[in-house]
Amino acid sequence: MRKKIKPNTAVSVGFVSLGCPKNTVDSESMLARIGQAGYILSSDIEADVVIVNTCGFIAPAKEEALDVISQAVDKKKKGRIRKIIVTGCLPQRLGDTLLEEVPEIDAVVGLGQRDTIAEIIENVLNSQKNQSKPRSFLQSSAEMIHDDRNRLLINPSHWAYLRISEGCGRKCSFCTIPAIRGKFRSKPMEMILSEARQLAEAGVIELNLVAQDTSSYGRDLGLKDGLVTLISELEKIEKLEWIRLMYLYPSAIDLPLIEAVAARPKVLRYIDMPIQHINNSILKAMHRADTKEHTINLIDTLRKRMPDVILRTTVIVGFPGETDEQFGELAEFIQWERFDALGGFSYFAESGTPAATLPNQTPDSIKQRRLDILMTTQQKIAFEKAKEMIGKEIKVLVDTAGADGFACGRYYGQAPHIDSVCIIKNTAPPPGQFIRARVIDTQDYDLIVEQIQ
Ligand code: SF4
Repeated sequence: MRKKIKPNTAVSVGFVSLGCPKNTVDSESMLARIGQAGYILSSDIEADVVIVNTCGFIAPAKEEALDVISQAVDKKKKGRIRKIIVTGCLPQRLGDTLLEEVPEIDAVVGLGQRDTIAEIIENVLNSQKNQSKPRSFLQSSAEMIHDDRNRLLINPSHWAYLRISEGCGRKCSFCTIPAIRGKFRSKPMEMILSEARQLAEAGVIELNLVAQDTSSYGRDLGLKDGLVTLISELEKIEKLEWIRLMYLYPSAIDLPLIEAVAARPKVLRYIDMPIQHINNSILKAMHRADTKEHTINLIDTLRKRMPDVILRTTVIVGFPGETDEQFGELAEFIQWERFDALGGFSYFAESGTPAATLPNQTPDSIKQRRLDILMTTQQKIAFEKAKEMIGKEIKVLVDTAGADGFACGRYYGQAPHIDSVCIIKNTAPPPGQFIRARVIDTQDYDLIVEQIQ
């Protein structure tokens, strides 16, 4: 049974949410609990208590988190913050090492204690003023299924992430996620559907399904075609209009799933499938289940079945031992396949992963050069693809409306936060509304559109 929390109307809590959509869901769950406990919520880093919900997936995420924490530490030294609490993947991964690195942190909270954050705040506030030892709440969440139904949405209220599983059962040799978030666990379908209904009742019309490996949904529950069943059930929720699938593992995208995306009107023809590389030797060293031949066939099938499908992918350059030829094969493939959107990353040797111990680690200068080549190639493709949209009529979901007569929105080919946007000229329809629009120009990756009355 949850402990009853006293109202804390005099205490402000500043919350900084970093990292991926899965972390956003955790942030939203914590925010709901903090708000319900009566604390005054703030997005400001100056507050009585500051919480930094971190990502610890790769080195740049850790650096970003440490940078925010050090800003908080500065303010604490100046007396503008009383307590600093760090939550999420970074403390889960680093444990007490984080406390040694930053002794000014008052508490570290792992993924398993997410739902007791209000009690932890109270505990930290009530601790001895000069208590030298920070508090660790680092119980593992490796076996847990979080109930995400109680959330305070950070993003515009008409769209939300819906996390359908936790952890990951794959063993990609570069990845820390299975160690941080545990083995793959699907959420019970009824729990997901109940959360989706709740979100729809609260005004959400676009759901973005997220997980570390969305395409494996239901396998551990003994469900055949679990994701297909789930999206067909989600489609029955009347108020939902758009359902988008993120993080599909390429080799798990099978014909029933392709048919479901193609046939179901609310499921967007948008496939986000991180391929990571295309050279077979590198894929093997990455412990990926895909091959070049399979990926090419899959893209062919997707485009044949849905000529209007939008394809997003992610790739890693500079994996240990990646030769100029192997990188060239990847760059040529990207040039040839013309993905609509692509996220490129330099490989980072993360401690505890098998790839970090491989010989022939690629020097940083080479990784950066390869990343620059790849991203310049993709930028040209994306700009060209945006230009090809000029003159087309599209359905746009309005996200924000500015006072200056401009509004921003997205068509089905643009996922929130990671993709380009539609800049709506001359009119500012209210957020959460669909409009018909014509693309009249582009601005780099973005589309400039005009509403059609
Ligand atoms: S599929 Fe691979 S890269 Fe993705 S979370 Fe799982 S182990 Fe990491």
